[in-house]
Amino acid sequence: MGRKEMDLRFGKFGTVSFTSMSKVNDFVDYLEQGRIMGTRCLKCGRTYFPPRADCSECLSSSIDWFEVKGPGKLMTWSLMKFGPVGFEDDLPYSIAVVDFEEVKVFGRLAPELSEDEVQVGMAMDIKANELPNGQLNYVFVRR
Ligand SMILES: [Zn+2]
Repeated sequence: MGRKEMDLRFGKFGTVSFTSMSKVNDFVDYLEQGRIMGTRCLKCGRTYFPPRADCSECLSSSIDWFEVKGPGKLMTWSLMKFGPVGFEDDLPYSIAVVDFEEVKVFGRLAPELSEDEVQVGMAMDIKANELPNGQLNYVFVRR
């Protein structure tokens, strides 16, 4: 899926203006540079990941970007042996939630991590990667 289709997907979501759409799509540009970014509301300070162009807390549209960086703490994880349609070829893979203090991030564990070395509470880093189909993504790696 190319970036254009990604834009269309965001376009289907909610009642976002063209401006706020382009703001959130900067996320993909940052990913291309290897940076995983969240947004922070400039008015109330609430942080979001995935990024949001509008704050659901105070409804402000003034946002700033910040980089999600390790060390994060692995809160929970699960090995997926059955996946939703479109993910069958990736199986098995592990999904996880990592707490980076500013934001809790849902994502996948790096495939090279073995089940035996993964422990709740362990320190993790996050890094951008490219999937075999060319899509950009991010994974959690052992710190
Ligand atoms: Zn706010």
